[in-house]
Amino acid sequence: MSPCDPGRDCPLCPRLVAFRDRQRAARPDWHNAPVPSFGTDNARLLIVGLAPGLQGANRTGRPFTGDWAGDLLYETLIGFGFATGTYDERPDDGLTLVDTRITNAVRCVPPENKPTTEEIATCRGFLAATIAAMPRLTAVITLGKIGHDSAVRALGERPSRVPFTHGGVTGVGRVTVFSSYHCSRYNTNTGVLTPEMFRAVFASVRRHLDAAG
Ligand code: SF4
Repeated sequence: MSPCDPGRDCPLCPRLVAFRDRQRAARPDWHNAPVPSFGTDNARLLIVGLAPGLQGANRTGRPFTGDWAGDLLYETLIGFGFATGTYDERPDDGLTLVDTRITNAVRCVPPENKPTTEEIATCRGFLAATIAAMPRLTAVITLGKIGHDSAVRALGERPSRVPFTHGGVTGVGRVTVFSSYHCSRYNTNTGVLTPEMFRAVFASVRRHLDAAG
């Protein structure tokens, strides 16, 4: 865990704390705490999702680990050289990120995957600290509008100047923001996001980072 990660009992969002306490009582074997970022702060790429899934990262303690969103994300990361090893839905599967860090706009699992505007704003302090602690940060991939808008704010820009669109590429200060529909099961089941569309975003990031040297 890095200094940019909240403690296990972060008290800042009362509704999420109450939900966390209920999950701890019901499933004491789960992580049930803010999910720390995955990957080194020396990476050039930061991926920003929405929030832990109840039975995914909230259960396992690693972002995008244990549910469908991770299947597509980690397969894509491995395909473009942003990760090595095998993704096996467990934090101890040995998968290693390469020049990449993964975090969420909101670190605690929200009921029905829906954080409030206030919770997003409150947890943005940790996102901003995460970004500030990455001296080589060159590219940010935002997954979904909520993660996108919060990341843009954390970078010091207004979302109205960097509106969310799938495939969007915008310079924000020292970094380039690439945006994608979230790789949730809902989006992939409904065809909002296909694996090909998702891979196209990562191909663009790969070219960008390779050109940056
Ligand atoms: S969502 Fe973020 S700020 Fe709110 S309680 Fe969890 S870790 Fe703390």
